Amino acid sequence: MYKKTVAELLAALADRTISSVELTGLFLARIERHAGLNAYITLEPERALADARAADALRLQGGDAPLLGVPIAHKDIFCTEGVRTTCGSRMLESFIAPYDATVTARLKAAGAVLLGKTNMDEFAMGSSNETSYFGPVANPWDTGRVPGGSSGGSAVAVAAGLAAAATGTDTGGSIRQPAALCGITGLKPSYGRVSRYGMIAFASSLDQGGPMTRSAEDAALMLQAMAGFDPRDSTSVDRVVPDYRATLGRSLKGLKIGVPTQFFGEGLSPDVRHGIEQALDVYRGLGARIVDVELPNSRLALPCYYVLAPCEASSNLARYDGVRYGYRTPGHESLIDMYKKTRAEGFGAEVKRRILIGTYALSAGYFDAYYVKSLRLRRLITEDFAHAFERCDVIAGPTAPSTAFPLQAKTDDPVAMYLNDIYTIPVNLAGLPAVSLPVGFDRLGLPVGLQLIGRYFDEPLLLNVAHGYQQETDWHRHFPPEFE
Ligand code: GLN
Repeated sequence: MYKKTVAELLAALADRTISSVELTGLFLARIERHAGLNAYITLEPERALADARAADALRLQGGDAPLLGVPIAHKDIFCTEGVRTTCGSRMLESFIAPYDATVTARLKAAGAVLLGKTNMDEFAMGSSNETSYFGPVANPWDTGRVPGGSSGGSAVAVAAGLAAAATGTDTGGSIRQPAALCGITGLKPSYGRVSRYGMIAFASSLDQGGPMTRSAEDAALMLQAMAGFDPRDSTSVDRVVPDYRATLGRSLKGLKIGVPTQFFGEGLSPDVRHGIEQALDVYRGLGARIVDVELPNSRLALPCYYVLAPCEASSNLARYDGVRYGYRTPGHESLIDMYKKTRAEGFGAEVKRRILIGTYALSAGYFDAYYVKSLRLRRLITEDFAHAFERCDVIAGPTAPSTAFPLQAKTDDPVAMYLNDIYTIPVNLAGLPAVSLPVGFDRLGLPVGLQLIGRYFDEPLLLNVAHGYQQETDWHRHFPPEFE
């Protein structure tokens, strides 16, 4: 049962093959057995079982809801009323959120049962889950390797059968890259599709929440519950939410897939390249046409992002001052001393690095040279995509330059770590939707992820293109053998 998709679990719950209480108990037992993966920061067993009982009771009375009784997990960046919400930081180690994020509330209303909160890089800054105050997460395909990040805990929860599905957030790749490294499906929706209300802010013009699942169909089911206009998020877009599942299964004949030459240059592992080429062959077999496209400014995406994201972070993280909530240093002599010690003790090294970079880049004298210039680059990168989409319907390429790397391999070299997101960051800068799906394994048996990028709000096409591949292949059905 723990290997089944959400779609299959909903069918099993509907025909009473299993109850939500049984299913929830099964996942809770697996989480305990595989606690060494460190996928969760906080577990909510009693609450989960109570919610599961309520879901079963509702179903017995003939009631229904889109995800009724399905056990899921939230990245610990989403506020959950009455439940600890740490964002992977010492700063929020004992913070109990007083309200639900819109995503949390919507999934609750859709009937999903919350198992707990998943591990993540501190304030979502990282690509390996190693900046978490709560320790690293192990990749179930090789426990000596990272799961990717920052949504590493959610990726592992789904990959190792510790939740039926999970939420993640993606500022520069944090849904897609861990999905790729763990062999699952991860969708970053269009900017504005999913409300950011109650989602702890990292870089507000880039952050977007989305689903991490076993299949594209499950991503459609989860997105259906998560998406939609929210007056409490001023960047949420008031646009009809289509029926994402209804458009799955349409023929891919005549589909034009654009392949950017810039995504196959130096730095791409040969095994990943091979996996992507094979996936493109599958699409050819399904009647799609592969065309070359150019994203000439994509090489500027990484420097552009590593100015803009830290700038926004330095502003967003100013709220953690020890006064209103979160950590406060025990010993201090004055107010200023309290601020300084609180922030020195509450934040980890990577978060401090970002705050320093951002504060520097935004200071008078440097603002135009760094921040304004990066905004201009962002526009060029966005326009590249617009031109590319004149020639194709979706863009395809690798999600990450390599498969999962060993723990600690890149912790001393921030730039090597930042390079993990070279193919995902341009998409956030442009605000486009993109999905990563598993398309095979490298020579070491580690999953390879294909990234598909769509036009604004074209999640229906994107999900259908991913689903078409998953109807033809079974890579998404593979399960890490040690966790069977
Ligand atoms: N790895 C990137 C960073 O460290 C992206 C993180 C994210 O998407 N949250 O900023």
